[in-house]
Amino acid sequence: ALAARERLSKKPIQAQPLVVGDTVRDALVADLPGVTRDRHYGVCRTGARPFVVVDTGGLSGVDEGLDGLTAQQVRLAIEEAQALVFVVDARDGLLPQDRNILDELRRSGKPLLLAVNKTDGLDLHDALAEFARFGIAAMLPLSAAHNRGTEELIAALLPVLPEDAHEELAGGADDSIRVAIVGRPNAGKSTLVNRLLGEERLIVSDVAGTTRDPIRVPLERDGRKYTLIDTAGVRRKARVEEAVEKFSVIKTLQSIAAAQVALVLVDARENLADQDLTLIGHAVDEGRALVIAVNKWDGLDAYQREQCQRALERRLQFVDWAKTVFISALHGSGLRELMRAVVRAHAAATKELGSSDLTRTLEQAYQSYQPPLVRGHAPKLRFAHPGGNNPPTIVIHGSRTKHIAPAYQRYLENFFRKRYRLEGTPVRIVFREGE
Ligand code: GDP
Repeated sequence: ALAARERLSKKPIQAQPLVVGDTVRDALVADLPGVTRDRHYGVCRTGARPFVVVDTGGLSGVDEGLDGLTAQQVRLAIEEAQALVFVVDARDGLLPQDRNILDELRRSGKPLLLAVNKTDGLDLHDALAEFARFGIAAMLPLSAAHNRGTEELIAALLPVLPEDAHEELAGGADDSIRVAIVGRPNAGKSTLVNRLLGEERLIVSDVAGTTRDPIRVPLERDGRKYTLIDTAGVRRKARVEEAVEKFSVIKTLQSIAAAQVALVLVDARENLADQDLTLIGHAVDEGRALVIAVNKWDGLDAYQREQCQRALERRLQFVDWAKTVFISALHGSGLRELMRAVVRAHAAATKELGSSDLTRTLEQAYQSYQPPLVRGHAPKLRFAHPGGNNPPTIVIHGSRTKHIAPAYQRYLENFFRKRYRLEGTPVRIVFREGE
């Protein structure tokens, strides 16, 4: 329900995760279909300020359940969150275990909202009355499946989320290229950052798991300035081996949101894990320029390298515009090529496009392949103009544009990408009716 236009919002997301239930999360967050596989995190952009939404597996409220893996994940999310939404089912009414859950949530000391879901078709007053016993002041009726009450929920949330706490993270003031170094635990993020910084510079800033926010590290290399946004935390070299990282999707999302280029590090020895694809999907969702670094290339023999390359080719088709660089963070090989790819992706993502030229290109694209007819009429595409960059956004005016199929949209994206050499960055096409 939260349409694609919201994705154009260029506001940086802030560090304001909250915990919600399935349908509620879906109502708040619209993921691009087919790209994001992991549906547990998303960015809500419908309100005045964007924030990260975390959907947990849920607390059962039963003791043994609380010790389970899900409960651990929930606790991690509660720890990282800045506000909590306790979602209850109006049709179930109060459940005995709700008390335990409530105690757990209250212990965190974080702002707490109660969302009473599935209220459609119920008497609101009655539905809420029962839950009033919880004593939570902020109580909101919701029908997530019907997308009712979500606006009110967002409106109630925004004031309790710290304002501008992470504005600095969004950056943008200096002329450096902001690069988020993301990847699964052990992919080699710390090794890469330390290697890029040079062995002699030992930076201690993160005891594993204690720092909430990603860390920014300035880097100058071959005459260019970068700001590395590091999720692993730059550790003392000696500590790299022993540091046990608590993998934080929230941190990863924040870094991607704060960056211009997402550098996704994958472990060559593991081919591509689903989590890698999820990360890449998030970066694309956020409109970030993307470079994929396949690390630990040094440890593979010729056969393994071939297998790995095949897997990459197959599974990375949806981002075939992104450059893949094979590196060894440990030995420092491939790093020059890697940073060159970062610079190129950044340049493509921030390229200025002119209206008349875009319109000419649109005409060419339209001439060589027209969108399929809708009830005997072809959608008309009249002219185009730039709608911003990072990612490059092209606004196309025409008629019957809502009938344009995703396949045709992709055709246009690729056409513009080729024409303007927009390699390494997603390209957004936005249609406008008339004028
Ligand atoms: P992080 O969790 O992503 O920060 O990963 P680390 O940088 O801590 O690396 C995890 C492990 O992989 C460490 O034992 C590193 O020494 C090792 N490692 C990192 N990069 C490479 C590489 O290019 N080649 C090999 N063989 N090992 C690497």
